[in-house]
Amino acid sequence: MLCVPRILRTREEFTLTIEPFEIFAIRYAHLGNRHPGENFILADPHEFASDLDYFVWVLRRSDCTFIVDTGFGKEAAARRKREWLRCPIESLRLLGVDSGSLTDVIVTHLHYDHAGNLDKLPRARFHLQDRDMAYATGRSMSHPMLRAPFDLENIQVMLKHVYSDRVVFHDGDAELVPGLTLHRVGGHSAGLQIARVWTRRGWVVVASDASHFYANFQQRRCFPVVCNIAEMLEGFNLLYRLADSPDHIVPGHDPLVMKLYPAVKPELEGIAVRLDAAPSSRT
Ligand SMILES: [Zn+2]
Ligand SMILES: [Zn+2]
Repeated sequence: MLCVPRILRTREEFTLTIEPFEIFAIRYAHLGNRHPGENFILADPHEFASDLDYFVWVLRRSDCTFIVDTGFGKEAAARRKREWLRCPIESLRLLGVDSGSLTDVIVTHLHYDHAGNLDKLPRARFHLQDRDMAYATGRSMSHPMLRAPFDLENIQVMLKHVYSDRVVFHDGDAELVPGLTLHRVGGHSAGLQIARVWTRRGWVVVASDASHFYANFQQRRCFPVVCNIAEMLEGFNLLYRLADSPDHIVPGHDPLVMKLYPAVKPELEGIAVRLDAAPSSRT
């Protein structure tokens, strides 16, 4: 059974002493015309099939800035026929984040849509789970079905960063700073991790691909890209345990995120939303 780790402090302590993070989602790509079976295992072929949005996330407060994932570039978008809207790294500027001086990047997992552009952040170190690096470089990658969501170039760049002391490996739960913890979920990828973030509205969980859509965790239905279904299902439980409410869980690819959360400012409508603000009611 998954437990909330001991490193978590009391709510009172956080409320009194820990500065909350702002959280932003930047939408950088899109994929439409999906079949239900591409979103859920054992889908009814007649049910609704949501589009996919692609995001990177920014966690920011006065003493530190983290980004969660690095998205993919134009070339990968063309090869995989995704609609590429903007460079996720250049888009950080829209929020006043200088990618050249960014020091900490959380890589939730090494799939192509979360771990591209790794050479565009010259000063960053990358927080990654042991098991994702092992998975992406080991025996499982001899199966075309399992390696399909990875791009070899990204893995090569990450390996280069390992050899340059720029990867911080984690094994399970880790506190990066007070108010920000990582938790290994696995399931979708062997070392998939999620981020639990202290905000003005309480604990928000950036779920990344632990739940592509709201429907995955709400209906306990698995996304078909998976290496361990039991871990994926346990991951849904962990999301509920770590978030203050279901409204505090942010799925990794659901276009509803752009509809439910307020734009950072009017000029960024459809591009960037604030996740530390309460969502409008749907969930
Ligand atoms: Zn993924
Ligand atoms: Zn993904």
